[in-house]
Amino acid sequence: VTRALAVDIGGTKLAAAVIDDDGTVHERHQAPTVRGTDAGALFDALRDVIDAVTDARPSGSGIEVCGVGCGGPMTLDGEMVSPLNIPAWRDFPLRSRLAEALGVPVFVDNDAKALALGEGWIGAAAGAANFMAMVVSTGVGGGIVLDGRLLDGAAGNAGHVGHVVVEPDGPPCTCGGRGCLEAVASGTAIERLTGQPPASAPRDVVERVGRAVGVAVASVVHLLDLPLVVIAGSVALGYGDPFFAAAQHALDEHAGLDFARGARIRPAGLGDAGPLVGAAAVGLRGFGVL
Ligand SMILES: [Zn+2]
Repeated sequence: VTRALAVDIGGTKLAAAVIDDDGTVHERHQAPTVRGTDAGALFDALRDVIDAVTDARPSGSGIEVCGVGCGGPMTLDGEMVSPLNIPAWRDFPLRSRLAEALGVPVFVDNDAKALALGEGWIGAAAGAANFMAMVVSTGVGGGIVLDGRLLDGAAGNAGHVGHVVVEPDGPPCTCGGRGCLEAVASGTAIERLTGQPPASAPRDVVERVGRAVGVAVASVVHLLDLPLVVIAGSVALGYGDPFFAAAQHALDEHAGLDFARGARIRPAGLGDAGPLVGAAAVGLRGFGVL
């Protein structure tokens, strides 16, 4: 059994767990993400979360590798991370700092790609060779597995489905564009539109968000010949059935070519363990075990 330390770094929380290569989750701990601009203080807080699951002795806990899921953007292999929602880290050398602190190999990838690896390993896409995993939450992200392999792209950013345009004259997007999926369907966009937290959105907004996701998915399904898309994230899973029905309906309407017609959208299968299982998968993949 290969034992991995899984680390999930998000704008609201830091989490760590010890996870075996059969998917068994052992110790798990989390803490709020420290606000502010001190890069070192945030790294110290991350060390505390990791120490809580390793008794401060990674090698003594049998851990052979560390995998990290972190918000993007980042340079290739997560050498330098600059998560949009974590202002304290700009070009922060996350991989090397963790490797130095832990004494085991460390592999870093963006959180949506990590989720794709996790869902393809033991989640709703288990065993599937061609699928996309999406996160519809505060932001919108994605990771794509094609022919059994996670797509990286030139700089490691493949799968940014949040910036597929779904309304050419739609609202401005944080990327500088207009009408991107993220500008319509992210929690941030929904809050801007309704003036309320995303969870309080009325039914017509929930359906509009679902339709926008389905339209974006239709483009991706045609582009890459994907029969399956699994969706995680607090917005998508919080809205549940009405969201998924609207998304599938829009996909069915726009999936015209024969090979795309049967494509399915399903809720992700790993629930709130998804980010950590995905992070473990990043480590085990880098280690050559997955
Ligand atoms: Zn955009």
